[in-house]
Amino acid sequence: MEARQLLQLMIHSVYSNKDVFLRELVSNASDALDKLRLEKLWDDSLDADVSDLHIEIDIDSDTRTLTVRDNGIGMSYDEVGRLIGTIANSGTATFLQELQEAKDAAGAEGLIGQFGVGFYAGFMVADEVTLTTRRAGESRGTRWTSRGEGTYTLETADDAPQGTSVTLHLKPADPENQLHDYTSPWKIREIVKRYSDFITWPVRMMPEGSASAGESDGTPEPETLNSMKALWARPRDEVSDDEYHELYKHIGHDWREPLETIRLQAEGTFEYQALLFLPAHAPHDLFARDSKRGVQLYVRRVFIMDDCEALLPPYLRFVKGVVDAADLPLNVSREILQQDRHIEMMRRRLTKKVLSTVKEMMTKDQDRYATFWREFGTALKEGLVTDPENRDAILTVASFASTHHDTEPTTLKQYVERMDDAQADIYYLTGESRQSIENSPHMEAFRDRGIEVLLLTDPVDEVWADAVGEYEGKKLKSVAKGRIDLDAKDEDAPGGEREKQTEEYAGLLGWMKEQLGEDIKEVRLSSRLTVSPACVVSDAHDLTPALENMYRAMGQ
Ligand code: ADP
Ligand code: MG
Repeated sequence: MEARQLLQLMIHSVYSNKDVFLRELVSNASDALDKLRLEKLWDDSLDADVSDLHIEIDIDSDTRTLTVRDNGIGMSYDEVGRLIGTIANSGTATFLQELQEAKDAAGAEGLIGQFGVGFYAGFMVADEVTLTTRRAGESRGTRWTSRGEGTYTLETADDAPQGTSVTLHLKPADPENQLHDYTSPWKIREIVKRYSDFITWPVRMMPEGSASAGESDGTPEPETLNSMKALWARPRDEVSDDEYHELYKHIGHDWREPLETIRLQAEGTFEYQALLFLPAHAPHDLFARDSKRGVQLYVRRVFIMDDCEALLPPYLRFVKGVVDAADLPLNVSREILQQDRHIEMMRRRLTKKVLSTVKEMMTKDQDRYATFWREFGTALKEGLVTDPENRDAILTVASFASTHHDTEPTTLKQYVERMDDAQADIYYLTGESRQSIENSPHMEAFRDRGIEVLLLTDPVDEVWADAVGEYEGKKLKSVAKGRIDLDAKDEDAPGGEREKQTEEYAGLLGWMKEQLGEDIKEVRLSSRLTVSPACVVSDAHDLTPALENMYRAMGQ
C-alpha cells in the first residue's frame, strides 16, 4: 500500500467526527507547554520565555486557514523529521512494519484501530498543513509542509518564534454542510469547549482580522475559550462522563473511550485526588521492556511529571490518569518519590482501589469485566508474583480457560464450587495453546474421570501458579509435575497394588532407565495415562519448558 492511501485510510477509519482534529492539535500544544515549563524548572539557564504560556487559535476566512499556535517547547529540525515526518508517531516503526505486512485494506483497518493518528488528523479537514517551529533555547527554526500524500518538505525558518504553529489550509467550504465550517468562531468555540475545556493552559482565540495590524484602534482582546478547571477537583456530579472521557483521550493519547473511570479523594494529613482510567484496549507495547508506565502527577493543579511509575505497581502499568497531591514540592524528583512514605501509602491505596473496581465490574457488568481481563489479565497476573499483599484480591478477579467450557473462562471460586468431595486439589496444565494442552497425554486420565483442569497459556502462569501454591486451602497442582494420583489412594498405600506392580515390572522399568540414561531421573508406573503408553513428567519443582524459554528470553 502507498503512504497516501494508508494515511487516508487511517484518518477516515479512526475518527468518525472530523471536529476532533482540533482536539489533537490543542492536546499536542498543551503537552508542549507542559514540557517547556518542566524543562525550565529543571534548567534555569534555558534561554526560553515562560512568562505567558498559552495556546492561540487564529482563523482567517478569506484565506481559509486555521492556525493553532503555542509558545511551548517547540521542535528542532531533527525532531520535526522524526516526530512529524513519519505517520502515526505513537509506535511508528512497529506500526508501519505491521501495516506493510498486512498488505490489504481489511487487515490494515484492524491494525489501525490500535493506533491514533494525532497530528495527522489535521488532514481530515485540510489539504495542506504547514508547521513552523523553534525549539526553546535554539536560534534556528524549522518549517515543515505537506499535502498529506506521503511526502513533505523541510526547510529552516529564521523568523520562527519559540514554540510551534500549525496552519491548516482548509479544504473548500461545503455549502451543503455549514456545520463543518472551521472558519466560524462559533464552531471553534464549541469544539474547544467540548473537547479541550480542562486543558490547563489558556486556549485563546483572537478576533478575526486582528492579526493584521492597523484597522482597529487599541489592542484587540483575545477571548479565552476553555475554563481550565481540573476535572478531578470538581464535584463529581458536575462533571459528565463525556468530559471525563475527553480528559482520558488527552492524557492517554488514545482516541477511544475508556472502559472505566475511577475517582478517589483522600483527605487528612496527606491530601490527594486521583482520577484513573482503565483503557478498553491494551497498548501494543504492554510487554515491551521500555513501555510507558504510570499516571501523571500534579501538585495542586500544576503538572509535575508524566509516566510517574511510583504511583502504581508495574503490573498496573496500563492504568492512565492523574494524581494530584497537595503536599509535595513542585520540584519533587522520581528518586524522592520512590522513597517517600506518603507516596508508598498512596500507591497501596490506589492499587486496592483499582482491584476493587475490577471486582465490582465483575459482579455488575460481566461483559466489561471480560474485556478488561482479555486485555490486561496477563499483566495483572504478574502481580500474583510481585505483590503478595494483593494476591487474594488478584486471584478473586482472575479468570482462566478451563476444560469445563470451550470458550467461557472460569474463576477459581467457580472451579472450587464445581469440585466434588473426592477432589482435593485444583489442577492446571500450562502450554502454548489451548489445543496443545488438550492434546497432551497428561490430560487423558483427567478427561476420562471428568476432572476439570485449568488450561493456562501465558508464560507468567507457570510463575504465579508456583508462587501462589494454593487457593482457599486447595493446592494448585500441575497435571504435568510430580506424582499425581487420582483415584489411586488404596493402590498407592504401602503394600498396595502399585507396590506389587512395581515389583513385577522392576525389570522393564530398570531397562528403560538404563536406555534413557542421563536424560531422565526415574521411570515409574502411573495411573495418569489411559491411551498413551508413556509420558514425560517433570519434578514438582523443575522449570517447565515454557518457563525455561521465558527466562532465556528475558536474558537470565
Ligand atoms: P502523540 O501526541 O500521541 O505523541 P501526535 O501525532 O499527536 O502523537 O504527535 C507526534 C509528536 O510530535 C508528539 O509526541 C510531539 O513530540 C510532537 N509534537 C506534535 N505537536 C507538537 C507541538 N505543538 N509542539 C511540540 N511538539 C509537538
Ligand atoms: Mg498528540
